[in-house]
Amino acid sequence: MPRKANGRADKIHGTDPDGMPGTPMSNGVTEPPRTSMPGVSGTGGMGGGAGSPGSPGASGAGGMGAGAAPSASGAGGMPGGGGAGMPGASGPGGMPGGMGGDTNGSGGDVERPARRSCGVMDVHRRLLSSDPAYAAARSALENATTQYLARQHRFAGVAKIPVVVHVVWNSPVQNVSQAQIDSQLDVLNRDFRATNTDLGFVPAPFTGLIADSRIEFFLATEDPNGNPTTGVTRTQTNKTSFSHDDQIKSSATGGVDPWPTDRYLNVWVGQLGGGLLGYAQFPGGPAETDGVVILHSGFGTTGTAAAPFDLGRTTTHEIGHYLNLFHIWGDDGSGCSGSDEVADTPNQGGPNFGVPAFPKVSCSNGPNGDLFVNYMDYTDDRGMVMFTTDQVARMEACLDTVRTDLISSYEESGPPVPAGPVVSWSGDRLDAFVLGTDRAMYHKWWDGSAWGPSVGGYEYMGGVCMSAPEVASWGPDRLDAFVLGTDHGVYHKAWDGSSWQPSATGYEELGGICLSPPRVATWGPDRLDLFVLSTDRAIYHKWWDGSAWNGYEYLGGVCMSPPEVVSWGPDRLDLFVLSTDNAVWHKWWDGSAWSGFESLGGICASPPTVVSWGPDRLDLFVLGTDSALYHQSWNGTAWSGWVSLGGVCASAPTAVSWGPDRLDVFVLGMDSALYHQWYDGTAWSGFEYLGGVCVDEPRVTAWDSDRLDVFVVGTDGGLYHKWWDGTAWGPSATDYEALGGIVSDFKVTLPAPAPGAAPAMMPKATIGEVVPT
Ligand SMILES: [Zn+2]
Repeated sequence: MPRKANGRADKIHGTDPDGMPGTPMSNGVTEPPRTSMPGVSGTGGMGGGAGSPGSPGASGAGGMGAGAAPSASGAGGMPGGGGAGMPGASGPGGMPGGMGGDTNGSGGDVERPARRSCGVMDVHRRLLSSDPAYAAARSALENATTQYLARQHRFAGVAKIPVVVHVVWNSPVQNVSQAQIDSQLDVLNRDFRATNTDLGFVPAPFTGLIADSRIEFFLATEDPNGNPTTGVTRTQTNKTSFSHDDQIKSSATGGVDPWPTDRYLNVWVGQLGGGLLGYAQFPGGPAETDGVVILHSGFGTTGTAAAPFDLGRTTTHEIGHYLNLFHIWGDDGSGCSGSDEVADTPNQGGPNFGVPAFPKVSCSNGPNGDLFVNYMDYTDDRGMVMFTTDQVARMEACLDTVRTDLISSYEESGPPVPAGPVVSWSGDRLDAFVLGTDRAMYHKWWDGSAWGPSVGGYEYMGGVCMSAPEVASWGPDRLDAFVLGTDHGVYHKAWDGSSWQPSATGYEELGGICLSPPRVATWGPDRLDLFVLSTDRAIYHKWWDGSAWNGYEYLGGVCMSPPEVVSWGPDRLDLFVLSTDNAVWHKWWDGSAWSGFESLGGICASPPTVVSWGPDRLDLFVLGTDSALYHQSWNGTAWSGWVSLGGVCASAPTAVSWGPDRLDVFVLGMDSALYHQWYDGTAWSGFEYLGGVCVDEPRVTAWDSDRLDVFVVGTDGGLYHKWWDGTAWGPSATDYEALGGIVSDFKVTLPAPAPGAAPAMMPKATIGEVVPT
């Protein structure tokens, strides 16, 4: 990526970099609380309904404006579009796809068990009989798990678990290579995210059970003393072999002591005897022996890894136990009365070995039989490829209860929830913020079972707001809302899990005189980064570091759109704006310094919308001057250039990603209906018609894989909602759930200009309201 300094003047107005001019203000106006927004709520479907006539370029179901060829002006076409033609979307050649498998090479004097054997139940029974505290802890965890599952509140984002690998070796061949260790981490990150390339092995009746656990693993980068580390220890031992008696876990018995087991997943790798492939200790056991033990020849996919256990699945299986999963057959020998305490796995007799053929019926579980492709069975590595939805819920319950320090002491989650007027801080949780006709802020929420305070009602949040709410969430049950006041200063209020601060209707004043709505990103717990344009059209940055607000920091530029910001990792920020040339300009914070501005080209008719689905990955959407949707991506190495996705759009795009290499984009068509286009890792879909007559930019959020919640404002001013549940749109493909209210502002952005017209380049809330002087 060319990180060139460009000729852009960073200090056009010679502005004082330290502070935006601020004025005292009088927001937080107290008004009588009410439970619904002023005005009458809408009724039924959105005015107009599906298939209403549109202006030229619109269409019914099917592609948007497929025949329209608006002003693809000579100079106006966006560079890089390859002909800049429009009709129909053209997919980009192909974004980087899944991960390739690794080759293996085994050899040497390695243990080669013929079939799987795991020592977890031996350890379990030993602890039950020897340690009364273990039995009590196990019982308490089962109760906590039941309660957790009933609440249906999942942790937000992706949990990242720091791993330390202790290599305990006797003969040099057992001193496994870094490549072998790395190959194991790769397997874990594929298997636990359901991105493994062998999911096609799952028989069709079971494919609906495949689940992404949103758990990832990384070799620790900081040791228990706070020093840098590779996350690997290597210890030579006199012992030629270990068993499941935990001697490998203590230096006093020829092994190596664990790192603090509340903060690290300890993985011991060594020689095991008796055909043992590995074992784990269930959560609730003694801290000094917590972790998993893996036979070196059943570890990773290369080096000493030996078939049929050379695909890294032994470690996946044992970490399943470590996160509180039982064997899928219920550990009752071959009987049918044992349970794995997981609802969606079929009752199964005993373990399956080798690679069974489908169906494998036991315990009257026909016609589909055993779920032998599950990681918690006893098949060969190539035969186990999935966790189920309810197994994932059980692992999440473990991580959110007894193993919570494992993630909270590092980052709580992966990419934080993108900020906006609708956010989701947990599974099946939605928080939507709008302005009413009195320009106060209103809030409603979905708690997994019902809308609060009611389907058509709203919580009154006070204020007289000059911009739509921008809300960020950096953790469970945590919300930070930002608006402009009548003085165009920034105002903030926060939900701390029990109450709004500074009060239900009050706001904290953050100063500034802003020409744009505030944009916010969060990259970790108790961290907020706020960006605005001031009257000099330069970008200013203010941040909350967990204890105080800092800034405003001057970041330069002469901007014609509100800043767009995204964070793909800790201490990383990527900022996008349109400049006076209507091209997209980008600048980023890499953890130590701000870059200069780089131009990404284009002549844009909407502000940029940006999403990130993974580290060092950015996807950017704008409208071109032809009102078509354009896309550009950063793959970690280079920008793709602009590619047209077609359409004739009447609103700026809104985008979301619910998983790696997955993008969902929504726009309004010229008929004011909602349209949807998605990228599945291979190709763009073309536009899907989703009905409605919408008066404001749609807003979308995703709280789980293959889950979308889209919000729009109807012609009656009411808020409307529809959702994708992984199978179908609710309430139907073209209908909406009415959520009441009369919304004066939901998602402030630009009305798209008519083709050929000069685009309006500032958000409507500030047009005519702020005159830079
Ligand atoms: Zn096991």
